[in-house]
Amino acid sequence: MDLTSYAELAVLLVNRVEDLSSLDTLRALLEETGRTESAARVTRRDLDALRELREELNGVFESAAAGDEEDVVERLNGLLVRHPVHPQISGHDGQAWHMHLTEGGRVADALAVGSVMGLASVVTGLGADRLGICQATPCRNAYLDTSSNRSRRYCSERCASRANVAAYRARQNKRNGQGQ
Ligand SMILES: [Zn+2]
Ligand SMILES: [Zn+2]
Repeated sequence: MDLTSYAELAVLLVNRVEDLSSLDTLRALLEETGRTESAARVTRRDLDALRELREELNGVFESAAAGDEEDVVERLNGLLVRHPVHPQISGHDGQAWHMHLTEGGRVADALAVGSVMGLASVVTGLGADRLGICQATPCRNAYLDTSSNRSRRYCSERCASRANVAAYRARQNKRNGQGQ
């Protein structure tokens, strides 16, 4: 079971906040990410629960970006208590036997368990500094740093190049200013 892929679910929920604005957009998000079965049975109650979860997951990333590891752990431990794992072995769709973190229940519960276990696994296996918030202002997207040298600072290539251009312009302006 690759729990890091579950951590990507947490990143998705934090960053796609606009898709949590209505049941239709949430359904589209679930379909887009291959969760068609969940998309078919998601309800308004799931939507409300996921909005709440999104705020809590965002808090975890904000604390990690601020370097407050104690707070990251405290927040995650709270989430682990509220979203208990009920592991089951599954062999659906002709796949080999594999583990599911939770079976049945509401769509929001399954997504909560997955994203929280994913983050807990990253923090304990790789370190809390693997969770971050994009530094290309005004972007506040969350990201997961899986680079070998922990060098990631942006949520996307787009933000990285935007930040590079801004830094270049700042250097140019400084140089021009000094020349006058
Ligand atoms: Zn499965
Ligand atoms: Zn960004």
